[in-house]
Amino acid sequence: MAKKYQNFINGQWVDARSGETFENRNPANWDEIVGIFPKSGKEDVDAAVAAARKAFDKWKAVPAPQRGEIMKRAGDLLVERKEEIARLMTREMGKILVETRGDVQEGIDTAYYAFGEGRRMFGRTVPSELPNKFNMTTRIPIGVAGIITPWNFPMAIPTWKIFPALTCGDTVVFKPASDTPATATVFVEILLEAGVMPEAINLVHGGGSTVGMAIVTHPDVNMISFTGSSAVGKVINAAAGKDLKRVSLELGGKNAQIVMDDANLELALEGVLWGAFGTTGQRCTATSRLILHEKVYDKFLDMLVERASKIKIGNGLDESVEMGPVINESQREIIHNYVKIGLEEGATLVLGGDVYEEGECAKGWFYQPTIFVDVKPNMRIAQEEIFGPVLSVLKVSDLDEAIKVLNGTKYGLSSSIYTQDVNAAFKAMRDIEAGITYINGPTIGAECHMPFGGVKETGNGHREGGWSAYDFFSEVKTIYVDYSGRLQRAQIDNR
Ligand code: NAD
Repeated sequence: MAKKYQNFINGQWVDARSGETFENRNPANWDEIVGIFPKSGKEDVDAAVAAARKAFDKWKAVPAPQRGEIMKRAGDLLVERKEEIARLMTREMGKILVETRGDVQEGIDTAYYAFGEGRRMFGRTVPSELPNKFNMTTRIPIGVAGIITPWNFPMAIPTWKIFPALTCGDTVVFKPASDTPATATVFVEILLEAGVMPEAINLVHGGGSTVGMAIVTHPDVNMISFTGSSAVGKVINAAAGKDLKRVSLELGGKNAQIVMDDANLELALEGVLWGAFGTTGQRCTATSRLILHEKVYDKFLDMLVERASKIKIGNGLDESVEMGPVINESQREIIHNYVKIGLEEGATLVLGGDVYEEGECAKGWFYQPTIFVDVKPNMRIAQEEIFGPVLSVLKVSDLDEAIKVLNGTKYGLSSSIYTQDVNAAFKAMRDIEAGITYINGPTIGAECHMPFGGVKETGNGHREGGWSAYDFFSEVKTIYVDYSGRLQRAQIDNR
C-alpha cells in the first residue's frame, strides 16, 4: 500500500476538504507509487492563510535569535535524516543519489546560515542632520509569505525561501510542486520537530492553477516567493501585481558555457558534462548551450561526444548510475519535440536524440544524452529552455562573438567561460548579461550564502541565497528619535 500523506493546516495534519487525492509515481519506475497526496482547493488555502495570518503576531514576537536557533535545530535534523531524505527524493524525482544528497546538504547549509542571521539582521545607524536626534533603520517582518516551488530541487529551494521567511518573523503557506510533495512533507515535519510554531507553517498540496493561484490572489497573503518557469512567473506577477504584493520570481534559463582556444580542455570537458547532463539537464542553471572557439572546435567536440556517449543511465538509487530519468511523461515529450524541432531547423545530431529504454529503463521516463551541432544562434533549440539532457553547440571565432552569442537570448541566469587569459576573463565578467558568471567552472554549483538569481526574463530583480533573501522577506523601517525637546524641522531649521 502506498503511503498516504496529508496537508498541514492550522497546526493539524488534514486531508483536502474535498477528500480528493492524487498519486505521485517514481519517474524511474512508473509502477512504484511514492505516495498518495491531498488534491487541495481554494477552501484549503483559505484555511491555511487564516492560520498563518492569526499566527503572525505571536511568531513575530519570538526574538529573532530564538527563531534562528529553531532553524539550527532544523538543520541538525536534516543532518540526521540526510540519507533517508536523499533516497526518498531520488524515488520521487529521479536525480542520482550524489545529487539528492547535495540537495539536502544545501538545506542544511541554509539552515545554519539562518541560525547566524537570526543574530544579525542588521539595520544601520546614520548621523542625523539635526542636533540631539538619532536615526536608524531596523528590519521588520512583513506578514504571510506564499511559497511556491518547482520539483527539480525539492529540498534546497523550499529551504532557500522558508528558512529566511521564518527567521525574519513571517509566517508561511507553502505549496510544493505536485511532482515532489513527499520531500516537502518531510521538510515540514522537520520544521515542526525543530520547534516552529505549528500555525506558522502551513503546507497545502495540489495543482498550480488551483492551489498556487489561490495563494497568489489571496488578499491576506502579503508576498509571493516563486521559483518555476518564466511563463508561470509572468502569470503570477500579473495576478499579484493587482494587489501590489511583493513578488520574488526565479525563472527559466538558457545558460551557456564558453570554451576559448586557450582553455584547459580537460577541465572544460568536466564542466560541460556536469553542467549539461547533471540532474538530467533539469536545472535552471543547466548548460544548454556550448559556445566553442573555432580553433578548438573539432578537438573538443570529439572529446565531448566520446565521454558523453559513455554516461551511465538508470535508476538514481544505483550508485554507479550517472544520469537518472526526466521528471515525467509530458516533460519527456517536450524534450523529444525539441529534438524534432532542432532537426527541422537544420541542426545535426551527433549524439542521442531519442528516449532510452534499455532493460529496466523501459519502465521510466529516460532520455539519451543528446548533442546538436551546426546550431545557429537564432534557432529555437538555441533560444528556448528545453529542460532536459540536450546540448546545443555553437561555433564562434573570437571572444566578442562568444559573448554576443551568449547574451543573445531572453534569459540571463548562469554563465561560464573557460579561459586562461585574465583579460578575457575580466571582459567576460563585465560584459556577460547574467546574474551568475563562473570563470573556469560550469554553469551549475551555487553556494547557499551567495546571492542567486538572474537578469532579463529569468526574474524580477530579487535574489535568493545569503543575505539577499533576508532583504526580500523583511521590510526596512526607518526610525527617528528626537531628544532635543523641541520641534526640529529637517531641511529648514539647520539652514
Ligand atoms: P512550473 O512553472 O511549471 O511550476 C512551478 C510551481 O508553480 C509548481 O509548484 C506549480 O504547481 C506552480 N504553478 C503552476 N502554475 C501555476 C499558476 N498558474 N499559479 C500559481 N502556481 C502555479 O515549473 P516546474 O516545471 O516545476 O520547474 C521547472 C522550471 O523552473 C524551469 O523553467 C526552471 O528553469 C525553473 N527553475 C528556476 C530556478 C531559478 O532559481 N531561477 C530554479 C529551479 C527551477
